[in-house]
Amino acid sequence: MGGEEACPGFQRVRTEKGGNKLSVAAHQRGKMVKETGYYDLLGVKPCATLDEIKRAYRRLALKYHPDKNPSEGERFKQISQAYEVLSDNQKRALYNRGGERAMKEGGVGGRGGFESPMDIFNMFFGGGVRMPGQPERRGKTVVHPLSVTLEDLYSGTTRKLSVQKNVICSKCKGCGVRDGVNRRCPKCHGTGMEFHVHQLGPSMIQQIQTMCSQCQGQGEWVRPLDRCLACNGKRVMREKKILNVHLDRGMQDGQRITFHQEGDQVPGLEPGDLVIVLDQKEHPVFQRIGSDLVMHKEISLVDALCGFRQVVRTLDSRTLLVSSQQGDIIRPGSVKCIPNEGMPIYRSPTQKGQLIIHFQVKFPEPGWLSPEQLRQLRTFFPPQEEVMATENMQEVELSDYFSQPGHWWQPHAGDGYYKDDFEDASHPHVQCHTS
Ligand SMILES: [Zn+2]
Ligand SMILES: [Zn+2]
Repeated sequence: MGGEEACPGFQRVRTEKGGNKLSVAAHQRGKMVKETGYYDLLGVKPCATLDEIKRAYRRLALKYHPDKNPSEGERFKQISQAYEVLSDNQKRALYNRGGERAMKEGGVGGRGGFESPMDIFNMFFGGGVRMPGQPERRGKTVVHPLSVTLEDLYSGTTRKLSVQKNVICSKCKGCGVRDGVNRRCPKCHGTGMEFHVHQLGPSMIQQIQTMCSQCQGQGEWVRPLDRCLACNGKRVMREKKILNVHLDRGMQDGQRITFHQEGDQVPGLEPGDLVIVLDQKEHPVFQRIGSDLVMHKEISLVDALCGFRQVVRTLDSRTLLVSSQQGDIIRPGSVKCIPNEGMPIYRSPTQKGQLIIHFQVKFPEPGWLSPEQLRQLRTFFPPQEEVMATENMQEVELSDYFSQPGHWWQPHAGDGYYKDDFEDASHPHVQCHTS
């Protein structure tokens, strides 16, 4: 992520009258943000779009999920708080104006606090969302991240994942009490209510109904001695389970694999699902864009001019001998491809995308040839019109240019096209011809 670029700050907005005007969206203007703590946590700029915020959260939440990083619980919590605020327009505007203090005063996060980090995570990855008022019919969906390599996604594999989940206690079958014990609250007889009678006068009584103090209105109460010993009255137990996760060829980073009814069990409810979210580690050589693989290759100037043979090791450990076409010249920043050496296509893995090679040309160091050698080298190139110095000319020499930060003119960065996420479909279409 190029952290040094300036925030645009301005948004071009089409007005109702049909004209264009520049409007400054206060919450999008980096300079007007009071604090940047939440932005820093997610590693985004204060002018980041919702999409960028989602992407940043997704990456960090997978990285710091307690399954993978048990010691980073605090970090996981902070990331989810930052996401909770920045993903909500209202909360974000409030934060931009007044920082974390305003959030506290504004009582953000429902009843004076934030959502649980795990709920935010599960919700983000499509688990456990229930509409308000909708009856609970099944347990929560549990989401687990699974780290995979690009090689795993290329060749397919089976990975074992150990997950912890709640299962119904086998001893008490989920009732939480010893055999033959009644769960009904003895004080309220299971109604959850208590009645108090007050004598107000000789012929006047008042009956007041309150919540049962014994069972807190639950209608159920069990003496500690009567609790099931196996689950300590909790009705469920934590159980470790090893899941075999099959990775098919061509699966993608962020893809979800659902194990139906393998989530937490809750007495009286259908078990929830367990969802595995694939989290692909960055590869040192290849970057994936959809079904294509992109790699950067640096070649020497002589190779660029005279042709070359280079070795590329594929993700399934084959060796490709890549040679340039005879007579071809590789220009700096040029892009070539090898058809059918990209990623296998999910569900039709015999088809593959392209391997795109982005070339950088390494130029020789200044002074690499003597003036005499340079003169000889020139003879290989087409003759050029020579400029003669005359008296009315002023001689000047070139110096190196360093662009100032925030300066309006930046040299065009030739690469970076492919550095975006593959979700960004704006990458230029690469023409590929089989030779
Ligand atoms: Zn009671
Ligand atoms: Zn039990």
